[in-house]
Amino acid sequence: MQTTTLQITKCESSKIDQVNFDKLPFGEIFTDHMFICDYKNGAWSNPRIQPYQPLQIAPSARVFHYGQAIFEGMKAYKDDEGGVWLFRPDQNYERINKSAERMAMPPLPKEYFFEGLHELLRLDQEWIKPGIGNTLYVRPFMIASQAGIIASAAEEFTFMIICAPAQSYFTGSVSVKIEEHYSRAANGGFGYAKAAGNYAGQFYPTQLAKQEGFQQVVWTDATEHKYIEEAGTMNIFVRLKDTLVTCPVSDRILDGVTRKSLLQMAEDMGIKTEVRPIAVSELVKGIASGEMTELFGAGTAAVVSPISGFSYEGKRYELPELSKDSYALRLKNQLMNIQYNRSEDPHGWREQVVTS
Ligand SMILES: *Cc1c(COP(=O)(O)O)cnc(C)c1O
Repeated sequence: MQTTTLQITKCESSKIDQVNFDKLPFGEIFTDHMFICDYKNGAWSNPRIQPYQPLQIAPSARVFHYGQAIFEGMKAYKDDEGGVWLFRPDQNYERINKSAERMAMPPLPKEYFFEGLHELLRLDQEWIKPGIGNTLYVRPFMIASQAGIIASAAEEFTFMIICAPAQSYFTGSVSVKIEEHYSRAANGGFGYAKAAGNYAGQFYPTQLAKQEGFQQVVWTDATEHKYIEEAGTMNIFVRLKDTLVTCPVSDRILDGVTRKSLLQMAEDMGIKTEVRPIAVSELVKGIASGEMTELFGAGTAAVVSPISGFSYEGKRYELPELSKDSYALRLKNQLMNIQYNRSEDPHGWREQVVTS
């Protein structure tokens, strides 16, 4: 670590025996420990691991009033021999610092991120269960913890990592509303950052969509609502004939690790890929002609989330049922095989945290 060494305070007894791993509600149960460090007087300090516990923080802290907060989402996986792996964590590290820059927050030193992460996973490794679909969801985040409601960037911050055991089971396809009024992100805005406010701004339009019978919103460009940009909090892919297409990242679109990995894997599998703006009109035409056969979201949480149909300009469009050899399922399986150390890792994406 930069200034001090990592201090570890272990919990007195593990909560793990109280957890039913066959029936995990997502993101509600956390492991025994958390990593925490502080930014003060222009430097990060006091990196420590302590029992997972509530924080003491002033009610006037900037995070509560101005939303100066960012986060990451990643997963740890256990292979059948007990080895624990992360998937491209360097990408999450780079991205949290990109988000930090945009939200006027200090970059996090690499040692803090990785030593904190590795030590935490080593301590709580029993919480990661083997078997495809079982993961530990890892949530690094940074908040403006300085007291005082002055509407300017804080100078004191707290960075933490907490972990929640998770299971992913196939939840089926979702039906989505292509958004024609609300926007998730603006030109010159911070849509590319994993900032807390991006999520808060999505809740209301998503609630409206749910009331109309959809499970999710597909965000479109803020100017004309003519080009698709993201599927909820995931990047979006479409299959047109034999080509897998996704839109380019921009200051409105988050540069997802899953997105870039799927693009690379598709190329490795000999699937033609295109990265270009995708007009909603192409989807409508593609359904009519039968040339559009897949539409799916991609992100760490669900890996791939197939979309069964969408609505646009008051009309509903249905996609054909996903076949076993769909791009969505082939890519999902291949990605999970890499993540769980069940196949070759030609691009060096896996990082071992605990050896078996
Ligand atoms: C996190 C996130 C994604 C997916 O990124 P991954 O790195 O693949 O998990 C996509 N879109 C938004 C808006 C996100 O916040």
